[in-house]
Amino acid sequence: MNRIRLLVLNAALGPLDYRVPEGVHVEPGSVVVAPLGPRTVTGIVWDEGRLPGAEIDASKLRSIREVVDVPPLSQPLRRLIEWTADYYCAALASVARMVLSSGGALGGPTTMTEYRLSGGDAEGRLTAQRKRALEKLGGEQGTIRELAKIADVSDGVLRGMVGAGQIEPVTVAIDRPYPPADADHHQPVLSPDQMTVAQELVSAVEARKFAPFLLDGVTGSGKTETYFEPIAEAIRMGRQVLVLLPEIALTENFLTRFEQRFGTPPVQWHSSLKSTERRRAWRAIAEGPDGGGAQVIVGARSALFLPYANLGLIVVDEAHEISFKQDDGVRYNARDVSVMRARFEEIPVILASATPALESLHMANNGTYKKLVLPSRFGGAQLPEIKLVDLTIEKPAAGQWLSAPLIDGIKARLAAGEQSLLFLNRRGYAPLTLCRNCGHRFQCPNCSAWLVEHRLSARLACHHCGLETKPPETCPDCGEADCLVACGPGVERIADEVAELFPEARIAVATSDTLGSPERAAEFIAQAEAKAIDVIVGTQLVTKGFHFPELTLVGVVDADLGLEGGDLRAAERTYQQVAQVAGRAGRGAKPGEVLLQTRHPDAPVIAALADGDRDAFYAAETEARKDAGAPPFGRWAAIILSSEDEREARQAAARLGDNRPAHDDLYILGPAPAPLALLRNRYRYRFLVNARRSANLQSVLRDWVSAQSFPPGVRVAVDIDPYSFV
Ligand code: ADP
Ligand code: ZN
Repeated sequence: MNRIRLLVLNAALGPLDYRVPEGVHVEPGSVVVAPLGPRTVTGIVWDEGRLPGAEIDASKLRSIREVVDVPPLSQPLRRLIEWTADYYCAALASVARMVLSSGGALGGPTTMTEYRLSGGDAEGRLTAQRKRALEKLGGEQGTIRELAKIADVSDGVLRGMVGAGQIEPVTVAIDRPYPPADADHHQPVLSPDQMTVAQELVSAVEARKFAPFLLDGVTGSGKTETYFEPIAEAIRMGRQVLVLLPEIALTENFLTRFEQRFGTPPVQWHSSLKSTERRRAWRAIAEGPDGGGAQVIVGARSALFLPYANLGLIVVDEAHEISFKQDDGVRYNARDVSVMRARFEEIPVILASATPALESLHMANNGTYKKLVLPSRFGGAQLPEIKLVDLTIEKPAAGQWLSAPLIDGIKARLAAGEQSLLFLNRRGYAPLTLCRNCGHRFQCPNCSAWLVEHRLSARLACHHCGLETKPPETCPDCGEADCLVACGPGVERIADEVAELFPEARIAVATSDTLGSPERAAEFIAQAEAKAIDVIVGTQLVTKGFHFPELTLVGVVDADLGLEGGDLRAAERTYQQVAQVAGRAGRGAKPGEVLLQTRHPDAPVIAALADGDRDAFYAAETEARKDAGAPPFGRWAAIILSSEDEREARQAAARLGDNRPAHDDLYILGPAPAPLALLRNRYRYRFLVNARRSANLQSVLRDWVSAQSFPPGVRVAVDIDPYSFV
């Protein structure tokens, strides 16, 4: 190959052609650096004829500068990049960047300096900060910056300690090998149901063919234990496995179980990895499973685009979770892209869930996915009984949110030494704060959203843009002092209410604020398992994955919450969340009880939950979707236009609306101001497109949007199969 076409990692540029100097070897998938004007660009050598572009005269071609020392991206990965860009109406370069954006994986040094406490008793003054560092660092090793974070001191303090000999440098190889997993380290005894399912999955791994499975098993049925068997088989075959989890907070629990089963933890991939860990993981994944490469990778959705050398199986756990949908940049759904990756790699993929998405269930029912069922809990544990508490009858006291039956339930658990979990999907203390004197509502200056009071951190925070401010001492409107009133409950407020009712109870608030890092999640799990927590108050973060045998009561503080708002999948989401959180109760020997506080006991979702009638719920929801032409029977897409200038956004949206395509098989609603009309200082307008399955949705959207030119300040985002409607 002496003439190549590069997919460069810059969406503004499009494909570029280059010459390959004599004696330099490249092939499709090679990553190269090439000159562009006075600078250089990184690009991927693409298959001939698959990237459009004008032929440039050979004499004008410049030579590539360098071939990066990483294995070429495989053909299945190249096809996946193309498919993802095409399906989600995204730029190829943006998708390719997800593959290569790996914090220095592509170049840089191969060793680095880390630091750790030096062994001897070092001389030097011990300031309070140095003392703290000595106490907190323990056996930790890392860069100065990482250690500073762990010790909660400044970089300067640690540098001073290096000078004083209290901390010493160590040279480490960045790409050191991972210890191998042992497929037969600890073999559990599977139940007959688990065995049947495991055998089918093991055969699928052996067959090395595309095979999508829906593993539909009730909470506590041992789905993890069961899919560990095909993972073991892939390890034996010398192939790699990717396990996708929806939240970092779930990783910890998974790591422990994995290590018990396979003798070593899997390789992790998520956003809070150190950059050197990212480089090491990326390269080990690209090397393949032999000789210390990566065998099993557990990660967040971005792990889907890693350059696996020899992938043999993909598992998507809690596959119904909407956090698999990315809502910025390339707006893809990792669950759906997983199935496509499996198809290109010709391997099985397992979507595991106790509450599958209607879309997945539909695919299983029409035979596209094979459904495997685990109908009962492992070890004879019973699914908990779900009881409704009608809040119109059982009214909580004024300014309180817990009804008498729920309070009695917690009291009984405290007396018995058992645990309770209260679920409310709202972070912070109160969703709205106002001035008692003038009624001023605290709103985010950047977003059309209320600021949420967080008492634990003493902040008012915007949950959309991340803005945080100190609560003011006086009202900015009327100047009254000490005037803030909290309206409505968040988890912190529920925790306060429990603390007032039961001063002796040990209470933990579990949200992304308190369990944001793997370390903090691990600490929480350890405490809950050691029964050092009596009452957990948490958001959707605690609805899944966790297994606390002493937890026997789940209280859903506001079962109606999810049904409000414009989410077109609201009923399904509510059903899934409540069923999942209910699934945390009674997982051990003691039976569980679930109390749902609701103002709408007759709403179909709530009634189905109370009757434990999953099939009735899915059947009713299926009918409703069919009538609405909603997924999986029809398709949706959204177009969001935004600008810092309200008028510019409105006019661009109006013009796009005027040029809407006319097709029998799709309707276009909008433009309308988005429910979140201002986000991060940008004004937003939305279209919602509802298409029949017969419509060629993406191509219609691409033609429609590309036919119009937008002012430079306007951003246009296309969201295929959207989950968020704000
Ligand atoms: P699910 O993911 O389906 O909710 P888990 O995989 O978390 O269920 O399993 C629930 C509990 O039962 C876990 O503590 C797990 O270790 C245990 N368990 C499941 N299957 C087995 C088995 N075959 N042998 C021993 N323990 C098991
Ligand atoms: Zn904001």
